[in-house]
Amino acid sequence: VLSAVEKLTALLGPARVLTGAEVSEDDWHDESLVAHWHAPDVVALPHSAAEVSAIIAIAREFGLPVTARGSGTGLAGGCVPREGGVLIAFREMSAILEIDVDNQVAVVQPGVSLRQLDEVVARHGLVYPVYPGESSASLGGNVATNAGGMRAVKYGVTRHQVLGLEAVLGTGEVIRTGGKFVKATSGYDLTQLIVGSEGTLAVVTEAILRLYPRQPHAATVLAPFRTVAEIATAVPRIVQSGVAPMILEYIDMMSMAAITAARGLELGIGAAVKEAALAYLVVVLESRDPGRLDEDIEQLGDLITTLGALDVYVLPARAASDLIEARERAFFAAKAAGANEIIDTVVPRAQIPEFLAEVSLIAQDTGSMVIGCGHAGDGNVHLSVFQTDPERLERVLRGVFAAGAALGGAVSGEHGIGTDKRSHFLALEDPAKLALMRRIKTAFDPDGILNPGAVLEPETASMQPSAR
Ligand SMILES: Cc1cc2nc3c(=O)[nH]c(=O)nc-3n(C[C@H](O)[C@H](O)[C@H](O)COP(=O)(O)OP(=O)(O)OC[C@H]3O[C@@H](n4cnc5c(N)ncnc54)[C@H](O)[C@@H]3O)c2cc1C
Repeated sequence: VLSAVEKLTALLGPARVLTGAEVSEDDWHDESLVAHWHAPDVVALPHSAAEVSAIIAIAREFGLPVTARGSGTGLAGGCVPREGGVLIAFREMSAILEIDVDNQVAVVQPGVSLRQLDEVVARHGLVYPVYPGESSASLGGNVATNAGGMRAVKYGVTRHQVLGLEAVLGTGEVIRTGGKFVKATSGYDLTQLIVGSEGTLAVVTEAILRLYPRQPHAATVLAPFRTVAEIATAVPRIVQSGVAPMILEYIDMMSMAAITAARGLELGIGAAVKEAALAYLVVVLESRDPGRLDEDIEQLGDLITTLGALDVYVLPARAASDLIEARERAFFAAKAAGANEIIDTVVPRAQIPEFLAEVSLIAQDTGSMVIGCGHAGDGNVHLSVFQTDPERLERVLRGVFAAGAALGGAVSGEHGIGTDKRSHFLALEDPAKLALMRRIKTAFDPDGILNPGAVLEPETASMQPSAR
C-alpha cells in the first residue's frame, strides 16, 4: 500500500514534494507574534487546480489536514500547519494569466505577489488598489484573508475587487465562480463566501481581480495633533468633505518615534510642534489633474487646521514615500521593540475616540503599554500590546475585543482570525451565526481537512496525520 507521500510523489514528481530536511523553516510559520511554529509533514507544490484537487483527494484518503500557504506574511497564524499534514504552497503557481485592459481585470494564479502584479498593471496605466503593508504577500493569501491595507478608505478591501475565483473544495471538486463583470444576481455568492475564509472552505487556484485607472498625481499631507482623539474626531469630517482621500491614517507619538527612528526619517517638524503633538494624521490625496490636486490639498489643509492640527506639512515626494513605507513596516518596528501581540480591531470610524478611551483604561488597569497607528478612515485600529505576563496580556486582549464589539465593531478588520484570535472570536460571536458558519464549513469541506483549527474549532475530534 502506498503512503500519502508516495502517492503525492507519483502525482507531482519528487522535486515538487518536500519532506524532512527539504522543508524550509519558512514553511513552518507566518509573521504572527504568538502562533507556535509547526512543521508540515509534507509540502506539495502544485501547478494547476487539477493537481490541487488530486492532492486533496490523497489528503482525504489519509485523513490529513491541508493548509494552503501564500507568502507567509499573515499576522494571525493562519497558514501555520499546526497539525502537520500537507502544506500546499503556491510558489510555483505565480503567473499573471491575463491583463484584460478593456474589461479592466487581471486574472492571476494564487502565488502572484502584490509587487509583481503592481509592476505589470502599471505598464497598462492601471492599478490593483489593495495595498496591505507587505507587498510580498500573495494574491491567494490576500483573497483568503480579505486583505485591507491603507487604500481601503477609497477603494475598499480585497472583497470589493474579487470578481471571480477558481477554487478547490474540501471534496476535491473544482469550481469557478463569478467572472469578468461587476454584477451578478444568480444564486448564492460563493465568491464572497470564499473571500476571507482563511483557507478553511476552499483552496483558491485563480482569481479575477478588478483594476482601476492609475492616478498620476498624488500628495501626502502630514498633520500633528495634540491628541489621537482630536484626529479621530477629524476623520469623519475629512471623509465627508469630498476630497476622497486614498489614505487616511493615524500614528500615535510613540509609534511615530519608533517608525521614524527605524528608518532614520527626518520629516522637518519643528521642536515645539513635536513636543506638543501626541499623534499624527497622514492623508494621501491622488488625482488625474495637478490643478485639482492643489485645490484638494488647500481645502484639506484649511479643514484640518480648523479641526485642531498644530501644523500642516505637504511632504516632498521622497519623504512622503519614506513615511508611507515606514508606516507599512510599523509592524516590524513594534516587533523589534518587543511587542507581545498585535491587534487589528475594527470599529465604526466615528467610534474610534470612545474605543481608544476604553483601550487606555484597559492599559492602565493591567499595567500594559498599548500603542498604535491605524487605518483611521476605516475605523481599523492597529494596537501593539507590550505586556509580558500571559494572564495580563489575555486580559488586555479580552478587554479590547469586548470594547470593540460593544461599539459595533469586529475582532479583526483585516488580519483575520487564524488561530491566534479564535478563542476571542468564538467568545464574542453570535452562537447562531457560529452554528451557521459550521454548517457552511461542512458543506464545503465535509471531512474538515481544510486548515482545521483556523477561524472555527476543528470539527473532527483528532486527526492522526501520518503522511509517511
Ligand atoms: C509588515 C506587514 C504589514 C501588513 N499590513 C497589512 C495591512 O495593512 N492590511 C492587511 O490586510 N494585512 C496586512 N498584513 C498581513 C498580511 O500581509 C496579509 O494577511 C496577507 O493577505 C497575507 O498574504 P500571504 O500570501 O502572506 O498569506 P499567508 O500568510 O501565506 O496565508 C494567510 C491565510 O491565507 C490562507 N491562504 C493562503 N493562500 C491561499 C490559497 N491559495 N487558498 C486558500 N487559502 C489560502 C492561509 O491558509 C492562511 O489562512 C501585513 C503583514 C506584514 C508582515
